[in-house]
Amino acid sequence: MPDTHVLVERQNQDQVAHYDAIVIGAGISGIFMLYRLRELGMTARVFEAGTNVGGTWYWNRYPGARFDSESWTYGYSFSKELMQEWDWKEHFSPQPDTLDYLNHVADKFDLRRDMQFGSTVTSAHWDEAANQWTVTLDSGQQATSRFLMTAVGILSAHTLPAIPGRDSFHGPAYHPARWPHTPVDFTGKRVGIIGTGATAIQAIPEIAKQAKQLTVFQRRPNWAAPLHNAKISKEEMDAIKSRYEEIYAHCARTPSWFIHEADPRKTLDVPPEEREAFWEKRYSEPGFGIWMGNFRDILIDEDANTAVSAFIAKKIRQRVKDPAVAEKLIPKDHGFGSRRVPLESGYFEAYNRDNVLLVDVIHDQPIECITPKGVRTAKQDYEFDILIYATGFDGVTGAFDRIDIRGTNGVRLKDAWMDGPRTYLGMLSEGFPNMLMVLGPHTARGNIPQAIEHSVGFQTGMLRFMQEHNFTHVETRPEAVDDWTQTVIKAAEPLLSSKVDSWQTGVNRNVEGRTVRRVLGYNGNGVHFRRTTDAVAKGAYKEFVFR
Ligand code: NAP
Repeated sequence: MPDTHVLVERQNQDQVAHYDAIVIGAGISGIFMLYRLRELGMTARVFEAGTNVGGTWYWNRYPGARFDSESWTYGYSFSKELMQEWDWKEHFSPQPDTLDYLNHVADKFDLRRDMQFGSTVTSAHWDEAANQWTVTLDSGQQATSRFLMTAVGILSAHTLPAIPGRDSFHGPAYHPARWPHTPVDFTGKRVGIIGTGATAIQAIPEIAKQAKQLTVFQRRPNWAAPLHNAKISKEEMDAIKSRYEEIYAHCARTPSWFIHEADPRKTLDVPPEEREAFWEKRYSEPGFGIWMGNFRDILIDEDANTAVSAFIAKKIRQRVKDPAVAEKLIPKDHGFGSRRVPLESGYFEAYNRDNVLLVDVIHDQPIECITPKGVRTAKQDYEFDILIYATGFDGVTGAFDRIDIRGTNGVRLKDAWMDGPRTYLGMLSEGFPNMLMVLGPHTARGNIPQAIEHSVGFQTGMLRFMQEHNFTHVETRPEAVDDWTQTVIKAAEPLLSSKVDSWQTGVNRNVEGRTVRRVLGYNGNGVHFRRTTDAVAKGAYKEFVFR
């Protein structure tokens, strides 16, 4: 007969724990959501697949990984004390520092005790009769909750290339979003990298410094511009700290919640020399100014876009010594800014090195397969010691799709969103009661941490309202969902980015069924979005149905 101690332990294991809220993910969203839920006096559990906090900044440890948004606009602003005690070391924080920051936040607010790591949520099913969610983990463990908070990130479902033989390579093969926790030594190694998105554009110059030979397999080039990163001195950091309130208030007034603001003049109304000088200045300044602080019409007007694209192309030609290589690096199928612009530190100069080779896999030599020794193209076999698949993510909806989420009447979220997401404000999805999404599809994003703080603030404000009125059930109102879906689709229509394949328009040919463009974010003005959410809160959330 087992002793009573063992019996009690077994019982505990079999028991299904219940919480007021379950949060999926311990990245920037999940950390802040937990903090706010505690303030509401709610019991909460965060389930996180990684072994620690950090989300994107936990997983993406590849060389060169860093913010390309100003660090001092990319931290949390909810705690003045936190803002004052944290010193950003660089204007564009490298991944290890950002991860330190998020660990510091988790420690400071004692958040880890409500987090369970190494726990991948495999399913979340709504139980209408019990008015609760049942969440199951990869271990088989289950838990129930009144509310389900998805804090799964927009770029967390990484995708490997759908290339024959992909898993046959004998050496180490890495996706940057699953990078080893100990640094990879490239010294004396022959390295192949597939992909030239923002991730590869950060990694390539760093790997090129170490590797014996780096071969870059490029499908479509991306427009990229210099980051101009620099260290932050103590005096600078003190000055930033004294201006935090002003900086965040300024961001809240800009369309994308960044420090950068578009110039309202029309590109072609500005005399050519003045235009050129303006672009030279933007190109020489740190951060996204060349994209977000450009003439407003470059993102909507073909001619304006052609003009700015010609300027950036000229820069690439100036920076890359071999004219044939420069031409390969200049995008011809889309204009500058119509895909998310990667910011780089010596990316183009990397191609001036003797140990870096650019292979154009569309026009010159398509990849046929991955072999045990490397990559076979239509022209030749390349042998490598290390392969890197910098092939991106199933953006925005991918992380949702990887969980079996079922709402009212057992409808799968994946099926409900087959023809495009249907949400109100990107925060609640039609037919999925009590499921609150941080950075859900169709929400405003821009400066991600600021979007997260805003979204969590709105959602926990609504939870407070529910507490005050003894409501335990919230759903979207169909007409509000219709209105919002139309608003989101309309806002995307004039944008050149809507006519281009990218993760932002939901196209990823490595994932079955991801060949048709969809609108996945609210591309309207962030100021308008804030006004809308404020009005909803002031109007007692009448766009939702409560019970
Ligand atoms: P990405 O921009 O989607 O780039 C993926 C790359 O892989 C593209 O060049 C793509 O080519 C290529 N590719 C995919 N499948 C392929 C295949 N089967 N064969 C050959 N090439 C293939 O992904 P990412 O670079 O990871 O960046 C995604 C997003 O993450 C960025 O846009 C950005 O928002 C974010 N990010 C941010 C930072 C930062 O804050 N600093 C850093 C990195 C990433 P095609 O273009 O032809 O599809």
